[in-house]
Amino acid sequence: MLRQVTEGVLTHESEFLQSNAVVVQGKVGALLIDPGITSDEMAALANDLHALGQPVVAGFSTHPHWDHLLWHARFGEAPRYGTARCAADIRAFLSGAHWKDDIAEELPPEIAGDVPLDLLGLITGLPAEATQIPWDGPTVRIIEHQAHAPGHAALLIEERRVLVVGDMLSDVLIPMLDMSAADPIEDYLAALRLLEGVAGDVKVFIPGHGSVGDADQMRARIEQDRAYVQALRDGGGSDDPRLSAPLNKDWLPGVHGWQLQQFAKKRARDGTPG
Ligand SMILES: [Zn+2]
Repeated sequence: MLRQVTEGVLTHESEFLQSNAVVVQGKVGALLIDPGITSDEMAALANDLHALGQPVVAGFSTHPHWDHLLWHARFGEAPRYGTARCAADIRAFLSGAHWKDDIAEELPPEIAGDVPLDLLGLITGLPAEATQIPWDGPTVRIIEHQAHAPGHAALLIEERRVLVVGDMLSDVLIPMLDMSAADPIEDYLAALRLLEGVAGDVKVFIPGHGSVGDADQMRARIEQDRAYVQALRDGGGSDDPRLSAPLNKDWLPGVHGWQLQQFAKKRARDGTPG
């Protein structure tokens, strides 16, 4: 079930939204990024890692959304990390009395009973100035940006030339902006420029949802996301091909409509034209 992307980097794709868990092999064990969705698939992943002689020695969540924050007891008690902002955001969320109910509302009914919430979000924030994940393996550079969620991080596994991009650059989901930010559009465009800036160091990129791609595909997805975000600012974006793709056409246009509405409200509030 694990697929090798390049030497020392493997992925597992979940059925839920084509979510990609990423395994980076280290000296004595693996770094596990965004571990997966259902209890069964995470337990199977733990078995596979055991068989490879790669116990999990560190975890990382790219951003503070439930589908990137799960964990399974079989992965053991390795330290789990996120950026400082990511950890602060999830800590605040978990301090609410009804957070499990809030997440339950978002879960598709067909998997709701099989998503283990007990270990959700128990991550340690790395210091704000941290530029790497502290672990015994290839250097993993943290490229933090504000776009999809607070403290969102892309990870560059330098010697493997692999970029893990979290919920950016997906071929199945449109850009979903962090509407709690002061300027979500500019944040998103800045994040795309940041990713573009490292594209020359990348041979393969792995999105949180959807297909893995090469450097050319990465540039194409950056362009596609930029076009959507710019169109969204002007009340457009409805022609984005991802909105009509079979897998998500039943719900994704609703997200797009909601984003359009948010920007219309924002424009009305700010009194800016257009
Ligand atoms: Zn996600």
